[in-house]
Amino acid sequence: MTLNSFKFINKFREVRNLEIIESKSDIKRLSKDFYNYSPILTEKLDECIADLVVRPSDHKAVMEVAEICWEFSIPLTLRGSGTGNYGQAVPLFKGVVMQMSNFNNLEEFDPDTGFVKVQSGCVMGDLNKQLEKFGRELRLLPSTWKTATIGGFIAGGSGGIGSIRWGFLRDPGNLIGLEAVTVNEKPALLKFDAEESEPLNHAYGTNGIITSLLLSTDIKRKWYSIVIHCIEFEKTIEILKTLTSSAIDLKLGAILEEKIVDQMPKWFKTNPRGHKILIQSTLGGTKTIELICKKFKVEFTLLGEEEKLVNGISEVVWNHTTLHMRSRDKNWTYLQMLLPLNNELDLINFLRKKWGGGNSMAFRGSFSTRITAISCFACIKVEWDR
Ligand SMILES: Cc1cc2nc3c(=O)[nH]c(=O)nc-3n(C[C@H](O)[C@H](O)[C@H](O)COP(=O)(O)OP(=O)(O)OC[C@H]3O[C@@H](n4cnc5c(N)ncnc54)[C@H](O)[C@@H]3O)c2cc1C
Repeated sequence: MTLNSFKFINKFREVRNLEIIESKSDIKRLSKDFYNYSPILTEKLDECIADLVVRPSDHKAVMEVAEICWEFSIPLTLRGSGTGNYGQAVPLFKGVVMQMSNFNNLEEFDPDTGFVKVQSGCVMGDLNKQLEKFGRELRLLPSTWKTATIGGFIAGGSGGIGSIRWGFLRDPGNLIGLEAVTVNEKPALLKFDAEESEPLNHAYGTNGIITSLLLSTDIKRKWYSIVIHCIEFEKTIEILKTLTSSAIDLKLGAILEEKIVDQMPKWFKTNPRGHKILIQSTLGGTKTIELICKKFKVEFTLLGEEEKLVNGISEVVWNHTTLHMRSRDKNWTYLQMLLPLNNELDLINFLRKKWGGGNSMAFRGSFSTRITAISCFACIKVEWDR
């Protein structure tokens, strides 16, 4: 540790309402996120470890940390729960990691608009529980919603469960405003409306410390989970497109190719074998889904209300599919892409051919609204071969 680092640690010790983490093992753990899904990032980021981790619990502490970092030219990296996949929360040049998890209150709820103002370190699972009291729920959830923070989702995530109805986080209408602290000689707390917030949305905390967010919410519904079983892969896309253009409420629509299904946890491998379409809809919607399945001559299983299931299907969608596949074989990684509308299969087949097909590629797609159309957001699993 240099003389300069002793100086700045002492400065941090003077800040009220600031937890300081100095244990080497904790600092190492809190300097990492899920970048190890990428074999390239694993090599590049493994040695990147902060000097110190701090956890503020009020605005003043956030501003004082920003001021000290400015004064001593200390690199500052923000962290929610560290579940990002691209090293977004990794301190590239040492310095301080500021974890926002103690900054987690629901500040306001407006019953007329359904807008919620919440501090950035609030875990999405906890926020959803609090919103339930107002008969509301978050529109969009990453599959890591049980542990990830709302600030980390806005600054480093993209979409997830709910995207089939509400698109991506960056689509107008999801983020209504935010408050952020600047990092300069005299840090200030600034308030931004929806338009002004755009440059901070998905900026990885590089242009400000988000303290609070103003977000749209949805009416809380009981979501029922359904698995549709399909032998022909082509049919899965056709069926899901039919469902998205039907007059039913949907929270989730995802396709898992059989190769992915085979690597999911035991509880999910329901019979019959084959590709699966995973749906979350209301109880009313399930009647229409039954009708559509009949037309396509495919079977389906109604699992029940998602929240009451011991193992819900939220655990096997979006990037949780990669998580399960990697728990069996660490050579699996993934590529994210938005497939060209109505040419989804062509591109999938092209990639299969290009990468040799066989066992080295598998397909998982989640459907998302893109303002005027429903597109397939794909997460192609690829086996890393040096
Ligand atoms: C198994 C798995 C599944 C996933 N599924 C999804 C998914 O469905 N959809 C999706 O979008 N993502 C997904 N992710 C990525 C990630 O979990 C989410 O984006 C999550 O919302 C990130 O939240 P976090 O609190 O962990 O953020 P972190 O990883 O801690 O941070 C993310 C980024 O935000 C910045 N940041 C954090 N807090 C602040 C703040 N207060 N102010 C400014 N910047 C800040 C950090 O510096 C970092 O750049 C998945 C990851 C894994 C491992």
